[in-house]
Amino acid sequence: MPNCLFCRIANGEIPADKVLETPDVVVFRDINPQAPTHVLAIPRRHVPAFSALGPDDGALLGKLAEALNRVATQEGLSDGYRVVCNNGPRAGQSVDHLHLHLLGGRDLNWPPG
Ligand code: 5GP
Ligand code: ZN
Repeated sequence: MPNCLFCRIANGEIPADKVLETPDVVVFRDINPQAPTHVLAIPRRHVPAFSALGPDDGALLGKLAEALNRVATQEGLSDGYRVVCNNGPRAGQSVDHLHLHLLGGRDLNWPPG
């Protein structure tokens, strides 16, 4: 998707602080971090939202999980972290390319706002 911000980060057109890259997944630091560790895991393939995922996307979800778990280990988050996906405008999704947030490095309240 030529005008998609996260497609452009994935293909290197727009710079980002990338912490992990695999053939299918990119993980990079959020530009406006909400915790000491705040990264986003995205598929290289343009998927507009969590709600666009279906039964054929199980492998992709597994790759996103594996990438985030590796980053959590790299970042020393063995005492806990949170994975969040905002889906749709009412949940605060602001970029229409699937992204999983990984937050850690501080106590995290529940329920989230
Ligand atoms: P959402 O609000 O859609 O759940 O999350 C989008 C996230 O992308 C936000 O946390 C926001 O700070 C982050 N973000 C938006 N634009 C950029 C950017 O250009 N670079 C990086 N690294 N993060 C961005
Ligand atoms: Zn995209």
